[in-house]
Parts: sequence; C-alpha cells; structure tokens
Amino acid sequence: MDLQPTKLSVTEEQKLEIEWSDGSIRQYGFDELRESCPCASCLERRQKPESTSLLPILSAEEISPLRIEQMNPVGNYAYNIRFSDGHDTGIYQLTLLLQLGRVVA
Ligand SMILES: [Zn+2]
Repeated sequence: MDLQPTKLSVTEEQKLEIEWSDGSIRQYGFDELRESCPCASCLERRQKPESTSLLPILSAEEISPLRIEQMNPVGNYAYNIRFSDGHDTGIYQLTLLLQLGRVVA
C-alpha cells in the first residue's frame, strides 16, 4: 500500500508539513521544494555548470521570501506546486516528496 498524504498544512515557521497515511509527518522548506523542482526547465538549469563569475539578476519576486501559493493534487500520485515566484510547472510525485524534507514525527 503506497503512502498517501492525509493532511497538508503550512507551519508557523513557514514550512510545508505533510502528514502521511502511516502517521509520519514530514516538513519541507519552500526553498528546498523549489530547488528540487522536477520540471524540465529546472532540471536543465541544474545540469548547467554553475557560473560564479556573474551575479544573478533577481526579480522582486525572487528577492521576497518564497512561498507556496497553491498545491493541487495530480491524480493520486503527485502534487502540482505553485510558488510565489510564479513557477508552477513542477509535478512533485509522492515518491519524490517522500525523499525530500525532514521527518518530524
Ligand atoms: Zn521547475
């Protein structure tokens, strides 16, 4: 039986908290989730060698603290997460979510 999220919430420390069907609870930093975005353009961006000679130009949305604006279930196997920087193409499979974050209970 695959684990399913039973409850999603955002903690006071601005972390995503997911309760799973086995009773375990994991917490996720928004930045961690954003950095782990599995969409094609993020995968490509992460594969490029890091350029340290140029400072990235950040938009206002990128400077303000990242938030999750919306999380929508995709079938019963994944979530689509919409971030406050406007990025919303990542489909986070439950198996990925179970590899990320930190077990808190
Ligand atoms: Zn992405």
